[in-house]
Amino acid sequence: MTNTTAARVGLRALLCACSAVFTLDALAAEFLVRSQAEFDGRVPQLQAGDTVILGNGEWRDFEIDFYGAGTADAPISLRAENKGEVRVTGESFLRLAGSHLVVSGLVFTDGFTPLSSVIAFRRSEGELAYHSRVTETVIDGFSNPERTETDYWVTLYGRHNRFDHNHLSGKSNRGVTMAVRLDSEDSRENFHRIDHNYFGPREILGSNGGETLRIGTSHYSLFDSNTVVENNYFDRCDGELEIISNKSGSNIFRGNVFFESRGTLTMRHGNGNLVEDNVFFGNGVDHTGGIRVINARQEIRNNYMEGLAGYRFGGALVVMNGVPNSPINRYHQVDSALISGNSIIESDHIQLAAGSDEERSATPINSEFSNNLIANANGKDVFTVYDDVSGIEFADNVLNRVESPQLSDGFGSAELTLTRADNGLLYAADSDAGASRDLQPIAKRSTGVSWYPKPEATPTFGHGEVIDIVPSAGAIFEAIERAQDGAVIRLASGQYSVERLIGLNKSISLVAAQTGGAEIVFDRSSLFEIQDGGSLLLEGLVLSGERAPDSAGNALIRTQYMSMLHNYELVIRDTTIRDLDINHSFDVLKVAKSTLANWISIENSRFENITGHILRLNAEVEDLGVYNAEYVDIEGSSFTRVGGALVEFYRGGNDESTFGPHFKLTESVLVDVGLNTRNKPGASVFLHGVQVTDVSNNRFEDSAPIKIEHTVGEPRTAINANAFVGVDVVEVRELNSAFDNTAVLNNNQYSQ
Ligand code: CA
Repeated sequence: MTNTTAARVGLRALLCACSAVFTLDALAAEFLVRSQAEFDGRVPQLQAGDTVILGNGEWRDFEIDFYGAGTADAPISLRAENKGEVRVTGESFLRLAGSHLVVSGLVFTDGFTPLSSVIAFRRSEGELAYHSRVTETVIDGFSNPERTETDYWVTLYGRHNRFDHNHLSGKSNRGVTMAVRLDSEDSRENFHRIDHNYFGPREILGSNGGETLRIGTSHYSLFDSNTVVENNYFDRCDGELEIISNKSGSNIFRGNVFFESRGTLTMRHGNGNLVEDNVFFGNGVDHTGGIRVINARQEIRNNYMEGLAGYRFGGALVVMNGVPNSPINRYHQVDSALISGNSIIESDHIQLAAGSDEERSATPINSEFSNNLIANANGKDVFTVYDDVSGIEFADNVLNRVESPQLSDGFGSAELTLTRADNGLLYAADSDAGASRDLQPIAKRSTGVSWYPKPEATPTFGHGEVIDIVPSAGAIFEAIERAQDGAVIRLASGQYSVERLIGLNKSISLVAAQTGGAEIVFDRSSLFEIQDGGSLLLEGLVLSGERAPDSAGNALIRTQYMSMLHNYELVIRDTTIRDLDINHSFDVLKVAKSTLANWISIENSRFENITGHILRLNAEVEDLGVYNAEYVDIEGSSFTRVGGALVEFYRGGNDESTFGPHFKLTESVLVDVGLNTRNKPGASVFLHGVQVTDVSNNRFEDSAPIKIEHTVGEPRTAINANAFVGVDVVEVRELNSAFDNTAVLNNNQYSQ
């Protein structure tokens, strides 16, 4: 029995004694409704204590305007007949206004909101919700079909609202998953509570606007929000570099778990926030981070971070420099920060006075860094100190044995033995520094709802059935048509001819039974089109363009022309691709705008006689910081007589919200690549705005040069140990940045 129910029973007993039972019974009515019209007719009649019950089934295009005046003892409720059996689909939304409203048990799926929010705690600017609650509600994949269209899933307005035990998973269009707004006086000092929610996987957005939770905006950031965010589980929330963007004051972030989530809990704007008892498990996943500290009076205590691989602003713990007399939307100086009793274990980076530059010159002041435990088994010094940190007092910290650490005053260095306690966290046997032994990370199963599955991590390829085929007309097309997601189609040796475009809206592996034994020729301008939800792995095959039509701009593989909500993967392994040369500009991969590959991998493959690009990843021309691939890895492959570039990779704009793109080229050979006059950048490898680049141990022969343009951030570019024969010198240009060129070029050999 909940406290509220108990209170109402108590009230009922009391009122019975006073002969007021009829009044109360009238208040306590339940109304089952089965249509939009019944619902709309009922809502204006609702009295305190009433409940509207939505009949089980699908509610398509359901516009839920739920309002009324409940009381603390007699709220007005809206619930599913059975939890999880009311499916709200199509163009639907929920708006609450009034007071003491409770909504529970709904599932939003298979649709999207036509408004700016799926769930908003207001009906209009003047009609907000107070003392209201949404609980045990699911929003799953309810994304606007246009990736770049911005909306929120949940927007909290008003005061004293609670959002708890909900499941939000799979937002893939632009826009914060959940926002707390402070844009009117009635929404400030709101004392909202956001607790026990399951924030499920959010794919990499590849641009700004992929935060999972934002509280406030820079404009209102000097107001107090007084929002409590506790005991939530953030599972692989990878949208962008801020998992949580705090932009207001006096909030509490307590007891949350961040599991393999790329990005950080960022104290971006606003003062006097408390971050305690949170647990971050990175498991070494790229760009997993912890807490970034900016502004005044932030208290960071008793948090536990383990296995966080993030660097720069995405490190395990980052204390920023500020801008003197900062404008509201830049960086306020760190003042009176208390960072105490945290454990930072097997994590790669702690950054102090981070972001120090001509503009961000205000170093942290009046701050304390004490009683923290910092331990890495390899004795690595994880600190980077970018500027004067005399404004931080270091005391009683414990460091695993580090040879000549940058910071030593206030740090004890000892050989630590770490053991994992029953709570799953590591502790030093002989030290009390770091997070307390009482810390109990919230279990995933204790968040969200019990009746809706939480998504597990599955491999992209190979988790489905194996389908064997032999060469015959239509064999590949038909096999893919009937295959389930994750299927492996195994091709017996021989030649396969494909007469029509193969659309892929699921993950498919095409694998030769014998490497090099199965050859595919095709009659259309493309062989494969990756559609939303699709991914493709090619292994051991020979693909030839010799039968493709004589037209310009063919592509062996293309993405669908419309934008895609879901990111895809493309793997080409042990495969030969040749003779894409019937006309000019015949690419291997050509992508459309607003599509994002999570991963493109080319391993141990050969490419010959191709007139276009191997990878044409330049569909984003608006300079909005959007791009077409997060990771491109090419290893052990050869490219011969390629008219276009191996890669033309474009990430425009100067927005700093993304970790990618990443590009890696190793152990490969390029001969006669990029010299076609139609290859506009005039490069064999053209990288614009790529954040992480590793080009090493390759041979470039009689090819166009590598051209790299740094645009934003602090790109990590390494070009090492390559041999260039008859190739112009590597060009690296800094376009927008005042920094010196940061590229590292070592041991490259040039000859004629
Ligand atoms: Ca952002």
